[in-house]
Amino acid sequence: MRKQRGGPAERPGVALDYDGVIADTNTIKSRWIRRHLRRDVPPWETDRTNCVRLIGIEDYLRMAPDAYGWRASLAARPVPGARRALRTLAARCRVYLLTARWGSMLRGCRAWLRQNGLDRHIEGYLTGGHANGQGEGKAALCAKHGIRALVDDDERHFIGVDDPGVLRVLFKNGARGRVKVPRGSKLFTGWADLLPWLLAKLTRKGGRPTPRAGATPRRGGRS
Ligand SMILES: [Mg+2]
Repeated sequence: MRKQRGGPAERPGVALDYDGVIADTNTIKSRWIRRHLRRDVPPWETDRTNCVRLIGIEDYLRMAPDAYGWRASLAARPVPGARRALRTLAARCRVYLLTARWGSMLRGCRAWLRQNGLDRHIEGYLTGGHANGQGEGKAALCAKHGIRALVDDDERHFIGVDDPGVLRVLFKNGARGRVKVPRGSKLFTGWADLLPWLLAKLTRKGGRPTPRAGATPRRGGRS
């Protein structure tokens, strides 16, 4: 059991996307594209928004089972630095997994976390920001549950969001090219830089934005 400083109301909440932020399924997608389409798309450009633009929706959907299916989920490696980030953040914050995955794909994500001994760091699971526009957006879910920061590798979750109470981090692990950063979001290209920045933002005393009131998702539950 990890050490916790205070109860849920005292610890700030942070929401982390799973694919491309915790588990490196982006490399699996990049390899699939090279093998099946003979194209080079770097992992940091395989988030849904960029990938659909580059390879088209038909091939993206054809790739999905091989990238998000049970076998692929369990074969993914952690994003460099993600293990330490989860461990460190969980000691000071409420860490939520906020993913567009649902059903068996979400079960695959939870199995991967258990397999890698990381599930104990997760306070709860939330699903939202689905590509079909159904359900709630990720930033809205953060605001609803009093979660202070959202880290995601897909810009679509930040576009049109202007809630100053939610820190928005566009995470593009290993990105070297030009990255389009939505207004009000901050770009990071690795956990080595992101982790100290997040800790400083989330744990500083008297800083802004202030913690927000909100319902606390059940541990291990879904929204
Ligand atoms: Mg992602």
